[in-house]
Amino acid sequence: MVMKITAIETIPVRIGVDRRVGHVRDTKGFRFTSNIVVLKVHTDAGIEGIGEVNGSPDWSGETCLGAKAVIDQHLAPKLIGEDPRRIRHCMSRLSKTFGNPFAMAGLEMALFDILGKSLNAPLYQLLGGTVRPLELPLRFPVMPVGPQESAEVAARVVSEGFRTIKLKVGHDPLDYDLERVRRVREVIGPDVRLTVDANGGWSVNEAIRASHQLEQYNVAFVEQPVHRLDLDGLARVRSQTRLPVMADESVFTMQDAISCIQKGAADILSVYPGKHGGILNTVAIVTYAEAAGVHCAIGSNLEWDIASSAMAHLAVALPNITVERYAADIIGPFFHIEHANTTGCSVSGGTLTLPQGPGLGVELDAERLRLVQHQP
Ligand SMILES: [Mg+2]
Repeated sequence: MVMKITAIETIPVRIGVDRRVGHVRDTKGFRFTSNIVVLKVHTDAGIEGIGEVNGSPDWSGETCLGAKAVIDQHLAPKLIGEDPRRIRHCMSRLSKTFGNPFAMAGLEMALFDILGKSLNAPLYQLLGGTVRPLELPLRFPVMPVGPQESAEVAARVVSEGFRTIKLKVGHDPLDYDLERVRRVREVIGPDVRLTVDANGGWSVNEAIRASHQLEQYNVAFVEQPVHRLDLDGLARVRSQTRLPVMADESVFTMQDAISCIQKGAADILSVYPGKHGGILNTVAIVTYAEAAGVHCAIGSNLEWDIASSAMAHLAVALPNITVERYAADIIGPFFHIEHANTTGCSVSGGTLTLPQGPGLGVELDAERLRLVQHQP
């Protein structure tokens, strides 16, 4: 039986972020408010799919207001009347629009939610079923705060159960960052995994110098050491250090992933649907990387509960998102201080547990959603 999309709602919300990450004076790229567009895709079958757009100007170049406009004016009209379960067909209707990966991903997420609900199956079943338990280890990000506070935050979250720490570096002089790494390693002990993410903040020479010194603190890998567009630089860093290199900002599209891997620029790719414009694109990139012998890890743009669930479903369904080696960055459900969902991912003791309901497994409470609604 045919099902048709009848309307697409775009609802801007504004959500506060917990300060447990540390008292960052200059936010240095980190945000303490998430401006998100919640999507509701309505159908003539009475099934409603939900999605989330969580772009940011620093990350994908998208904004809440821009995503709302591009969906309302350009993307939604192409989907009205289409069968939402024909996901590849629907997404190909949108393929003429350039960029806007988080907006595309938000819509596609809602289509998968409808498909799952129509079949009474969780998203991970649609992706081929689980290859690992529904509990995922998480990586806690420590922001670029001073050495003492970095150590205090790390010690606290390790005592709460986190077994992997990501230290944000690359915002301050290298010696200062190395002192932060030294202090954090000292308090977390030898058994907790420690990683660093420079968010492209180092020059190639700095990154090579840093990597040699990071080895002595048993850092597991270095994430995005140099600028996102400098794949040759990333490859030079990788060739001159024994530390594995993770590419994050450098890989948005499949073409990015191909270039990155062909240039030998990364040992690990950070992946998630927002960056890649959807779940199907993420599956393609992760599968390509697997064939090339490159591991993938779930990264994050601090998603809210809807997109976090999409990320978690991918992580339990794709063998090459190796959370056993590389803990997931699905930290949004933990960091956001307001929630509008009655079901969804839960976080406890450094572990995220997936919901088991159909589709994304996230049910929204209309009243709680209304309370966080925001006119941008
Ligand atoms: Mg990163």
